[in-house]
Amino acid sequence: MPAPNFDVLVIGSGASGLAAALSAQRAGVRVGLATKAALQSCNSAKAQGGIQAAVGDDDSPEQHAEDVWRSSHETADRRLVSVLTSEAPAAIAWLEELGVEFTRDNGGYRLARCGGASAQRLLQVGDRTGHAITTALREAYESSGGTALPHHPLVALEQTPTGWRATCERKDGERVEIDATTVVLAAGGRCWKEAEARGELSTNHPGATGEVTRIALELGAEARDLDALQYHPNGGAWPPNMQGYSIPETTRAYGATLLNADGEEFTDPLGPRDEVSAAMFKEVEEGRGVTTPDGRPAVVLDTTRIPEADADISLPYMLRRYRGAGIDPLREPLLTYPVLHYQNGGLVIDEDAQTTLDGLYACGEIAGGTHGRNRMMGNSLLECCVFGRRAGRAAAARARA
Ligand SMILES: Cc1cc2nc3c(=O)[nH]c(=O)nc-3n(C[C@H](O)[C@H](O)[C@H](O)COP(=O)(O)OP(=O)(O)OC[C@H]3O[C@@H](n4cnc5c(N)ncnc54)[C@H](O)[C@@H]3O)c2cc1C
Repeated sequence: MPAPNFDVLVIGSGASGLAAALSAQRAGVRVGLATKAALQSCNSAKAQGGIQAAVGDDDSPEQHAEDVWRSSHETADRRLVSVLTSEAPAAIAWLEELGVEFTRDNGGYRLARCGGASAQRLLQVGDRTGHAITTALREAYESSGGTALPHHPLVALEQTPTGWRATCERKDGERVEIDATTVVLAAGGRCWKEAEARGELSTNHPGATGEVTRIALELGAEARDLDALQYHPNGGAWPPNMQGYSIPETTRAYGATLLNADGEEFTDPLGPRDEVSAAMFKEVEEGRGVTTPDGRPAVVLDTTRIPEADADISLPYMLRRYRGAGIDPLREPLLTYPVLHYQNGGLVIDEDAQTTLDGLYACGEIAGGTHGRNRMMGNSLLECCVFGRRAGRAAAARARA
């Protein structure tokens, strides 16, 4: 057999794929990173709100783990949750070494409390946290000597005597076969495609279509909770050019409340995501919602309660987007309605991010278990970094063995 092109092949260039590729490259093996479109094209770069880690004085990884367990309605895989929360502070330190500058005030991190959390635990880079993290990871990978193959969507994967053969199909129709000893699947979720099928809006990028999960399932990999899709409670509902935009959950962390047509608060704005979305759906179903000028259902997100100083530091991008669309969120409330956002479930993995197939790893949104059937905000970017690093290191070690 000819030698494989790479020791480790990573599929997908979101935060999880970049973290895996960089970690494998740093472990001293030959790494290839194949992705569907441009390297920058992914959900991770769109993430605004922040990333969770128990770094506050009144907090601990154990408390973080309990919040995940409770928010998942006791459906998460506790082994994965324990890894996630105990390695969170180290993941933040790693990102800082790579150049991510988390927002600080009074010398410490500026921490917000997110839905379902019992402490202020959300670190932010303004409201472009995902952009900052993916930029740092991408630049580190590009300067590490690893190979990047943009516009190489995976269309098939098969086992070979030496590992795996991936087939990618480029836009010009040419098929490229890549051999690797181990493969890390980091191709994200499927909410864009699912929203299209349902005729709904989604916060996701158009590459979130789920075919890599299907390929893994056809190979015999196990999955869990694939039916558990998450709605982001605060999709933009008006004006039209903000429909599908995810209004950061940090608006509620900094004081915004949800109101019905009668101006009444109807839910805890910092409850778990599924509970907040369910309360919004119920309010509309029972006739207490409002209607957008183009006839869509909505409720009111009263962003005028956010102190200007907090908004300037933690929500500058959101303010710019809405003001550019003709609405100042600090002067008038927004109209909002849940939008399809996240695939809670995915491929079954162990603590090293290996799927149920030998030599095939999965990390990020494509993997299941860490969040059970309901993810807390801020834990996805964290999962990408923690399990991306683990997947990269384990795939490199396995390729060397
Ligand atoms: C608008 C928005 C805001 C968010 N805000 C937050 C937040 O504040 N905090 C938080 O923790 N999480 C947030 N999330 C969720 C989080 O960003 C994502 O779930 C997470 O970043 C997913 O990372 P990933 O690497 O698994 O997938 P992605 O970042 O989606 O990357 C998947 C990659 O795989 C590629 N790919 C797909 N199919 C193929 C194929 N066939 N072949 C090759 N490559 C393929 C894609 O092109 C892409 O590069 C947000 C998500 C969105 C959409």
